Amino acid sequence: MKKVSIVIPMYYEEEVANECYEKVSEVLKGIGDKYDYEIIFVNDGSKDKTLEILEEISKKDEKAKIISFSRNFGHQAAVTAGLREVTGDAIVIIDADLQDPPKLIPKMLELWEQGNEVIYGKRKTRKGESAFKLLTAKMFYKTLNALSDVEIPKDTGDFRLVDRKVVDVINSLPEHNKFLRGLFSWVGFKQKAYEYERQERFAGKTKYPLKKMLKLASDGIISFSNKPIKLVGALGIISIVISIIILIYALISYIFQLNNLSAGWTSIMVAVTFFAGVQLLSLWVISEYIGRIYDEAKGRPQYIVDKKINFDK
Ligand code: UDP
Ligand code: MG
Repeated sequence: MKKVSIVIPMYYEEEVANECYEKVSEVLKGIGDKYDYEIIFVNDGSKDKTLEILEEISKKDEKAKIISFSRNFGHQAAVTAGLREVTGDAIVIIDADLQDPPKLIPKMLELWEQGNEVIYGKRKTRKGESAFKLLTAKMFYKTLNALSDVEIPKDTGDFRLVDRKVVDVINSLPEHNKFLRGLFSWVGFKQKAYEYERQERFAGKTKYPLKKMLKLASDGIISFSNKPIKLVGALGIISIVISIIILIYALISYIFQLNNLSAGWTSIMVAVTFFAGVQLLSLWVISEYIGRIYDEAKGRPQYIVDKKINFDK
C-alpha cells in the first residue's frame, strides 16, 4: 500500500492544533483503504500549549509524530525538518491553521497518481487576509520573478503535494537557508498547479509578522538571484555618469564665467551625498550575500531538535 506523509509546521498554534489534527486525520481515514499515512507535526519552538496538545494526540494515535525544536527556527526550517523524516511515497505540506483545506488532499493525490510530481496549491482567492498582506505578497512575487532565474509561481505558498523523488532531491541539497517554494520550482519534474480557495485562519493570528515576511522575501530573492549585485554595478555606472555631467556643467560655468555656482557648494554636496548613498546601498547588498555565505560556511544546522515522538513506531 502506498503511504502519504503530511508535514504540518506549528508555531503558537494551541488554538488550532486539535482541530487541525481532527480535520487532517478525518480526510486521511476517508482514503484509508487506499493509502497508509503518517502526520508529522513540527513544533517550531512554541511556548504555549501547542506541544502539550500534540503530545496528547501522539499518545492516542501513533500515526501522529512530533518533531519539537529547541526554539523558534522559522517556518521554512520546520518544514525542512519534517521533510527529512517523512517515509511516505507522496508528501503533503500544509499549514496548521486550516487556511489550506485538508479536504483537497484526495484530489491532489489523484493528480499525483496521474503522474504529476509536484502539485502546488495556487490561491484563487484569499479570504480574510488584509489588503496590506495581499499587496506585499503581490509585490514580492513580482520582484522575485523579475530578479530570479527560475519562474516561481505567484500566489502559491508551501501548500503542495510532492513525490518522494522530489523530497529526496530537496533533502540532498546542502544549503541551509532553504527557500522551499523556490526550490520546489527549481528542481523541475512534472509540475501541476492546483487551484483552490484559500480560507480564513481557523483561529489565532498570523505567525508571520512583517519582520518574518521580510526575512522570507530576502531569502527568496538572494538565494534565487545574483541580479541585485549587478544592479549595484549599474547604479555605480549611472552615478559616475551623473558626476561627470555635473563636472562638465561646472567646467562650462567656470569657462564662461557664469558665476551661477556659489563657490561649488551645491555640486560638492550633491556629489558627496549621492556617492555616499550609492556606496552604502552597494555595501548593504553585498553584505546580504556575504552574510548568507557566512551562515553557510559556519555550517550550523538550520534547526535543533529537542525531542522526537512516535518515530520508532
Ligand atoms: N509557522 C512556523 N514558524 C514560524 C511562523 C509560522 O512554524 O516561525 C507556521 C504556522 O504555525 C503555520 C504556518 O507556519 O502553520 C504558516 O503561518 P501563518 O498561518 O501564521 O502564516 P500566513 O498564513 O499568515 O502567511
Ligand atoms: Mg496562515
